[in-house]
Amino acid sequence: MKTALITGITGQDGAYLAQFLLNKGYEVIGIVRSENSINAKGLKYLKILERVQLVECELTDLSQVITTLKAYEPNEIYNLAAQSSVSLSFNQPIGTIQFNVLSVLNLLEAIRILDISTKFYQASSSEIFGQSQLPITEDRVINPLSPYSISKASAHWITRNYREAYGVFSCSGILFNHESYLRSSNFFIKKVIRTAIAIRTGEEQELRVGNIDIKRDFGWAPKYVEAMYLMMQQEKPDDFVICSGVSVSLRSLIEYVFEYLNISKDLIVVDPKFYRPTEITNIYGDNSKAKKQLGWDYDLSFYKVLEKLIEEELENG
Ligand code: NAP
Repeated sequence: MKTALITGITGQDGAYLAQFLLNKGYEVIGIVRSENSINAKGLKYLKILERVQLVECELTDLSQVITTLKAYEPNEIYNLAAQSSVSLSFNQPIGTIQFNVLSVLNLLEAIRILDISTKFYQASSSEIFGQSQLPITEDRVINPLSPYSISKASAHWITRNYREAYGVFSCSGILFNHESYLRSSNFFIKKVIRTAIAIRTGEEQELRVGNIDIKRDFGWAPKYVEAMYLMMQQEKPDDFVICSGVSVSLRSLIEYVFEYLNISKDLIVVDPKFYRPTEITNIYGDNSKAKKQLGWDYDLSFYKVLEKLIEEELENG
């Protein structure tokens, strides 16, 4: 039986990845910040809380990371823990950069110091490319436009450096936006769906949003975690862009949700308060390397995913 250690197991991807790996017969160890205040919503929703072992470890403390890796000797580490919000990173640049960079460095340093053959997956992000040539491929110029993407760009290069300098099996999944019912409510798609439902029931009067003329490449989270696993089964570590290949405007997504729920589009209010200091106007990726080398398949229209998300939200609240 293989052992996988997942940091960020309480997040959207952590929960879906844990479920996927459990179904593959893995023993799953999940790193949490504090055993006394575990955010178990996602693990409970997927009915896997009892099937994973949760372990407290402060990832910014190298000695704790070393002790944890020594104790569990995982075959694979999936490093998903991060301050993951671009918007929040403008308010918390220091905390975001400190945690998102140091945690990666500590995990890789621990693998190097212990001289173990543990494979390492880094949750990299399309945001690292900022305003780059489209479509985004694995070798486009990195040009981050937010504290979040600066932290992820640094983590991306650290992952690559440990691969090249020390021969660690370390790979980065460069994931574009992906959504599910388990997305936190501060993220755009979840916020739109929840507010639209609240408007329908009379609990909210309108939807206030920032710049909705920007375009993003959105996908379905449970399919994206499969790509993480596939990357770790390759003979050699490498980086892969994981995306749908198509960008859509935020405005068109809001209008789709409002039409689906029969709500007037007059209730969409653009508020400059929600504008970001710097913003990518359009981004989409090229997933052909992942499809060819990993055998990963993806052909979902995000409008179909949206319908699924709305229905799941209506069902579960
Ligand atoms: P998420 O739902 O926000 O989950 C983040 C996880 O990181 C949670 O388990 C959270 O723990 C943990 N975490 C945050 N700050 C921490 C800290 N200071 N110390 C320890 N743990 C901390 O994120 P996600 O959507 O699953 O994304 C997973 C990873 O992929 C992240 O690294 C994200 O940046 C990256 N990514 C995501 C997307 C996307 O569209 N979802 C796209 C590209 C890359 P708590 O539950 O305790 O808060």
